[in-house]
This record gives sequence, structure tokens and C-alpha cells, in this order.
Amino acid sequence: MPIRNRIKIGDFMRGVERRNPGETEFHQAAREVAESLVPFIKKNPDYTRNQILERLTEPDRIVSFRVCWEDDDGNVRTNRGYRVQFNNAIGPYKGGLRFHPSVTLSIMKFLGFEQIFKNSLTGLPMGGGKGGSDFNPRGKSEREVMRFCQAFMTELARHVGEDVDVPAGDIGVGAREIGYMFGQHRRVQGRFTGVLTGKGISFGGSLIRPEATGYGSVYFIREVLGAAADDMAGKICVVSGSGNVAQYTVEKLTQLGGRAVTMSDSDGFVHDPDGITPEKLAWIMDLKNNRRGRMSEYAKHFKCKFYKGKKPWGVRCDVAFPSATQNELNGADAKTLVKNGVKAVGEGANMPCDLDAVHVFGDAGVALAPAKACNAGGVGVSGLEMTQNSMKLRWTREEVEEKLRDIMVDIHEQCVEFGKKGRKIDYVAGANIAGFKRVADAMVAQGVV
Ligand code: GLU
Repeated sequence: MPIRNRIKIGDFMRGVERRNPGETEFHQAAREVAESLVPFIKKNPDYTRNQILERLTEPDRIVSFRVCWEDDDGNVRTNRGYRVQFNNAIGPYKGGLRFHPSVTLSIMKFLGFEQIFKNSLTGLPMGGGKGGSDFNPRGKSEREVMRFCQAFMTELARHVGEDVDVPAGDIGVGAREIGYMFGQHRRVQGRFTGVLTGKGISFGGSLIRPEATGYGSVYFIREVLGAAADDMAGKICVVSGSGNVAQYTVEKLTQLGGRAVTMSDSDGFVHDPDGITPEKLAWIMDLKNNRRGRMSEYAKHFKCKFYKGKKPWGVRCDVAFPSATQNELNGADAKTLVKNGVKAVGEGANMPCDLDAVHVFGDAGVALAPAKACNAGGVGVSGLEMTQNSMKLRWTREEVEEKLRDIMVDIHEQCVEFGKKGRKIDYVAGANIAGFKRVADAMVAQGVV
């Protein structure tokens, strides 16, 4: 029998679609990676002989479980919890937990798949995983959130551990939820251990972890602009979202001399042409993190325009930071941005650009910094939190931020090494190939397991 060492995108994707029916987000993530990887894999027969791409698209295991909890009125409520343990060839599974009503198995799998490459790019020993629930934290009381987190962790506890799988936050899971889950893990396992990252500072959390994803995105874009002999000074930036990633993206880009003119939530976006200053951002942080209010209140308070039900991609800008959620920027939006002269796009969210948008930016030669490179600062500092927990020490803000900067510069260098095409850099291909290579080499070395 001849050994199969040929791979075609069409055949490969038909297999993925047949094995994972209806999981459109997962198909999308797999296709984007396959488009970059197939030409690279063809030149490396070891990868085809070992069926690395086929093995990489099949999670090691998926845990799905019922989460029962009681609301404040005494009603029993039932949600579904997941943990997708995708690949641990280079380290324990690592990736966030998302609590949002849109969570499905397809969303969990696309996020877990992306996480493999992202974590590999950080250079730290972390495999890929993701989890979460269709629980909607919006409108729930503090105690309801606590009871849900406890019920969720009661089951998850048996599947995670500091050398097995280390979850963190994502949409709907911040310091508050991590605190409750950490408390429940400690209660049911009877051990104080670095099983989660994004913890509070008083119980093993790392400084700069809340800031890391947003800061990292801006550091990455600074490198992208630097590669074209440009910098952040005076750049008009359109940011979507108003959660943790968007907030710290605005903070850092402002510190580096840029001007953020938009932020958004699921109701619409605000356009503040004067720029979201540090004072205005502090107001937004209080609105979103403490008062849990809506961006439309910002428009009223600071007397600027609110565009109900709209996305900000029509606003003229030099840099766009889609930092809300998956598929928030489509092909038509990408064409508008290109027409308006956008220079770079930094994906703060996971997979915010759909495949059409990726192709539009690629064809127009606009630098698209894909999430697995651009937003890797978050998980990068999670890796640093794990290191501090194992070493039982704590680094200063300056130490952590310097390490974060080094990680982002290093990821940029990897993208350049594997994505250089003439005078341009294809960041999507560069990130996919560099992230893949480390994991693939580890899998080849470890045999058929
Ligand atoms: N949810 C974040 C991400 O998408 C962070 C994951 C982590 O820190 O483990 O990368």
C-alpha cells in the first residue's frame, strides 16, 4: 500500500465538514488555516506522512456536561457546559472559558483550534483548549453568577489541573467569575493550585493580566507599522467592543500617540471624533465593569453620536481593531475600510474577520494581523502567571509588561520569517505556519499518539 502523502484543500475540507456537520465556525477556522498550511505541508513530507493536519483538526477529547443551579427566585435552571481539550503536544491544555448565550460546540471548537496555534506562537509551553457555557450573565445577580460558577466548576474540576488543563477568562468570564470558580475548585479538590489564570492579585494572579490582550494587540500593530517604517503617532483608530480587550487597546494606543474614535457594544457604536481620552476611558471602564451599562449612555454623557444597531467600519481610519466577537467584520466592511485607506487591521477578538474579509484585505495588500498573533498577549501573560505560580513568586508590573512586549515582538518576527512575500508580509500565512510548525514538529517527534 502506498503511503498517503498528498493533501488537497478541497478533499481535506470535505472530510472536516463530513466529520463535523453544521459546525460552520469550526469549518471557517479550519479552512483559513488550511489555505495557509497546505502549500507549506506539501513541501514537508513528514507532516503529510504523519497526517498532522488531519490529527490537528480532531480534538483530543470534548467534555460536555449539564450545569444545574438555582436562581434567586428558587427556580432550578439548567445550562450546558463544555471543555474542548484540543491538543497538548507542547504543554497542558490552555485557553479561556466563554459564558454567552451564543455558545455552541462549533464556537468552542473554533476557539480551541485557534488556541493551539496562538499558544504555540507565544513560545511558552501551552497546548490548546477552550470551554464555556450558554449561560447568559447579563441581568443575573451577583449571587446567581456565583452559584452558576460553583455548579460549573463542580463538574469541570475533575477534568482540569495545573499540569493538565488551565482555563482562564473569555467573553462573559472576568476576574469575578474566575474568583468564584477558583474558590469552588479549592473547595472540591482541597488544594490551592494554579489551576486557573486571570486570578485576583491576592491569590496568585499576575499583574498586567487584565491589560495583556489589549496592550499586546497594540504592541503587535506597532511592529506591523514599524515594518513599513511607520508608527502609532497620530493614527486614527476604529475600535469595536467595549469589554476588557477593547478597553486596554484604547488605553495603550492612546499612550502611544494614536486616537481611538469609536467603541461599541451589541446595541451599536459611539463615534467620538475628538478621541476617547484617558478620562473618558475611565468613565467607560466604570460604566462597563461596575455599573454594567450601555455605550449609548456614553454618547449622551459626552455629547457625541450613537449609531444604533450599526458597526463602526464605515468610519474613516488608519488602523482598525475589531475587538468584540467572531465574524463582526465581513467582506463588504473590509472593502469600505480599504476604500477609506486603512493601513492595518489588528484582530483583538477571536476570528472577527470572516473569510471574505480576510481575502479582501489580502488582495488589497492591507496588513491583517490575525487574532492568533495579534491577541496572543492575553494567553501569553496567562503563561507568565502559570510560571509565577509554579515558582511561587511574583513579578512587578514592569517585569511582566516587558516580557509581554518581548513576546509580541517575537511573534511578529515569526510572522515575518514565515509570511514574507516579496516586499509584503502575509501575517495570516506567517502566523498559521509558524504556530503550526512548533506543534507539528512536537507531534512528529512524539510518534503516533
Ligand atoms: N480567552 C483568551 C484567548 O482567547 C485568553 C486565554 C487564556 O488566557 O488562557 O486567548
